[in-house]
Amino acid sequence: FSSRELTQHYLKRIETHDPKLNSFITVTPEIALAQADAADARIKAGQAGPLTGVPIAQKDIFCTQGVRTSCASRMLDKFIAPYDATVVTKLHGEGGAVMLGKCNMDEFAMGSSNETSWYGPVKNPWDLTRVPGGSSGGSVAAVAALLAPVATATDTGGSIRQPAALTNLTGIKPTYGRVSRFGMIAFASSLDQGGVVARSAEDAAVVLQAMSGFDPRDSTSVERDVDDYLRDLNRPIDGLRIGLPKEYFAEGLEPAIRACVEQAVKQFEQLGAKIVEVSLPHAPLSVPTYYVVAPAEASSNLARFDGVRYGHRTESSRTLEELYKKSRGEGFGPEVQRRIMIGTYVLSHGYYDAYYLQAQKVRKLIYEDFRKVFEQCDVILGPTTTDVAFELNSKMDDPVAMYLNDIYTIAANLAGIPAMSLPCGFVGGLPVGMQLMGNFFEEARLLNVAHQYQ
Ligand code: GLN
Repeated sequence: FSSRELTQHYLKRIETHDPKLNSFITVTPEIALAQADAADARIKAGQAGPLTGVPIAQKDIFCTQGVRTSCASRMLDKFIAPYDATVVTKLHGEGGAVMLGKCNMDEFAMGSSNETSWYGPVKNPWDLTRVPGGSSGGSVAAVAALLAPVATATDTGGSIRQPAALTNLTGIKPTYGRVSRFGMIAFASSLDQGGVVARSAEDAAVVLQAMSGFDPRDSTSVERDVDDYLRDLNRPIDGLRIGLPKEYFAEGLEPAIRACVEQAVKQFEQLGAKIVEVSLPHAPLSVPTYYVVAPAEASSNLARFDGVRYGHRTESSRTLEELYKKSRGEGFGPEVQRRIMIGTYVLSHGYYDAYYLQAQKVRKLIYEDFRKVFEQCDVILGPTTTDVAFELNSKMDDPVAMYLNDIYTIAANLAGIPAMSLPCGFVGGLPVGMQLMGNFFEEARLLNVAHQYQ
């Protein structure tokens, strides 16, 4: 079948099923069909790459030229991006993939349930009364419900891995600096990293391959060749040393989730892997550390939304000061405002040393923990979440309970290492994920290990 037929199939599914899920903010059928026709022509001419003509959904955090790029915020509800993010250029330009539309997410990627979106919550396709996780909730719901074969996503503190876990998908956050952040709306710049959610490690490998690489327009992009993520997928993993950090199996983990992960560990042993117990002593400090560092960076990044240059502008203001205040007060939702307040507080004179500087020191200790552990093992394995997907509206009044969702995912962002989540069973009919973390630039190894398990 042609790319046009495939694209029409997915557009039809979006039209039929997305009203129940709310996984898209914007659907782009005209762009999709034009790209599909171009792809079909390339295929006919024998110039196709691995992604030519493949439909992809983009998280609405990536700028797409001529298409609304909202970041799920009222602030950017009418913002039409004037340029493409590098990820978008790589996938749809050079890669020849077809863009189906822009996926829902938590506002400015702040959240773990996709309930902070200006466009309303996303439902988990496995149970419509539950959250799909966040912030990449639209990306995972679309892929899990077969509205798109793959989707892009971003991960600042778990936003690829936690939603992937809650929807039975495979999601990978590469090493910090591997995927360009140019045109990816900034939340916490030292933690943000683009990646992909897919139905298998193999699919994820194909898309990540096309997204990765040095970009001179991102000053933190790493100038280093991209490994071949597909070449090693079938390599046997006998002799692989898998580290189980004891802090990841401690109090707080639901016994049924632990049982799923332990079952997976047995399967890895049957594949010839060697299990070693390891310790990441500072891991329990990662949530408080992250919730100082991330808001600090966010408060600075979001200062650009002033109601003057672009984004929402209030209709009623008499002074410039009032224009700023009202535009920001109306444009940002409650969680975003909370983060800006926390961030400004921890950076302010008199508190900087006690909070921000202290958090930076702990961040270094978390990084050192990983450095030592990777002398004892090749990959680290643990749960992605403490439990299965929770009910909609159950944690919105309790920010700390919401933040605790990120307990297993955040350390990888603070250290900058690659990490992924892959399916490892079901509890009460709901999907469970497990997490693999690797040393810097070991994406190929993570994908290989996941593929061998799958
Ligand atoms: N849940 C975390 C937060 O709200 C992580 C979000 C993310 O990775 N974008 O900050």
